Amino acid sequence: MKNYTQVYVKNSFEAAAMYCKAFGAEITFEVKNDDKTAYAHCELSVNGEGFLALAEATNPCDINIVHKMKWETMTFNVFEMGSEEAVCNAFIILSNSGVIINPIQEVPWNKCCATVIDKYDYIKNSIKLEQKLIVNFHGGEPTINFPIIKYIIEVLENELSNSISFGITTNGSLLNDDMIDFLASKCDFNLSISLDGNEKTQTYNRKTNSDKYTFDFLMNNAMKLLKKNPKTRIRMTFDKENIDDLAENVIYFIEKGFKYVVPHPNIFSEDWSNEDFEKLENQMLEIKKFEIANSLHIPFVSSEFFCLSKCNSGLNYYSVDPEGNFYPCSFLIGKEEYIMGNSSKGIELEKLFEIQKKLKSLIHECDECALKDCCISYRCLFINYVTRGNLLKPNLVECNLINCRYNLSKKIISTTSYIREEIVD
Ligand code: SF4
Ligand code: SF4
Repeated sequence: MKNYTQVYVKNSFEAAAMYCKAFGAEITFEVKNDDKTAYAHCELSVNGEGFLALAEATNPCDINIVHKMKWETMTFNVFEMGSEEAVCNAFIILSNSGVIINPIQEVPWNKCCATVIDKYDYIKNSIKLEQKLIVNFHGGEPTINFPIIKYIIEVLENELSNSISFGITTNGSLLNDDMIDFLASKCDFNLSISLDGNEKTQTYNRKTNSDKYTFDFLMNNAMKLLKKNPKTRIRMTFDKENIDDLAENVIYFIEKGFKYVVPHPNIFSEDWSNEDFEKLENQMLEIKKFEIANSLHIPFVSSEFFCLSKCNSGLNYYSVDPEGNFYPCSFLIGKEEYIMGNSSKGIELEKLFEIQKKLKSLIHECDECALKDCCISYRCLFINYVTRGNLLKPNLVECNLINCRYNLSKKIISTTSYIREEIVD
């Protein structure tokens, strides 16, 4: 049996000539494609010894992206295995859970040839040694399948030497003490519990048909998480119906001891009116007063505006659904048109290129906006897609939210400390 290193390249004629020059090699066998513009297969030898096989990469291939996605870009060209049975045997073993690129077939240079990518898990194999990983579980309610969360965390910790941070957002309803201990000790990146506010607010929007998931039960779980992990975060959702209670609810959680309280408006609702956003600004002012009076830092009303990093979804981030399908963004889970591969086959590069191309689009109606570099709607085109059906139609709730914070900041920053004290009083 012989084994060459095999490379797939763009401009295979030029590449072969360059390799010959670089390594003192000569072309010892060549098969051109039908229109004679590239090599379908080409073998190079040095001093009569087989050295390298190369072929034109036929799929659209952006090398910059390929190298970000995969560090194993070499394949091996095994041939002269002795018999067709040996090829069939290798084919059957390697294609088990792998991806068959070409089944066993006759090609111009061989009677019995197949191309197969073996099963070795895309996710594991695509991780570079020095990469820092963040694995975040969210739903629906992820703790419905807690054993799989535990399994994934344990496998990743045992099999990879990378630095890995874990996170979860849970509604807290299924937690027991063992789960609380496990999550509190593992989730150093994000440990969020979705609670909207005090009992009145929580039971308004999150009704259950079970007596078990009372407000006290959920709050008790949240307090247990907080005790075990002081970074436990309260993820509040508010909408126009309970906007008037927003400040009261934020203060409620802070007074319970939570340092990280993150309110977020219901961005899926289109019912918000200008009057609602005025109420929002008033509520933010109340929260700001509380922040100043207690020397806190509450990001929701922060006067600091940071440029958001570019959305690199699909490149250094992707979401995986329970079937192992990959999506560029967690907001797109379930949108089949955005599936961009899966855990056994890896990323479909053509789909990734398509997504990257879409992400380069700009929202021209925001061209003149001074806040655009800090605005979620301007960056997160997929949020626009799921909430407004169009990547380039900004989510209006996000737009108003950042404008409310901006107006509030102007009010606060432009006042003298004397007047600021008056605001607080
Ligand atoms: S969505 Fe609104 S806040 Fe965001 S960039 Fe556009 S106009 Fe500005
Ligand atoms: S659209 Fe926004 S939320 Fe989605 S992946 Fe991009 S940056 Fe993240």
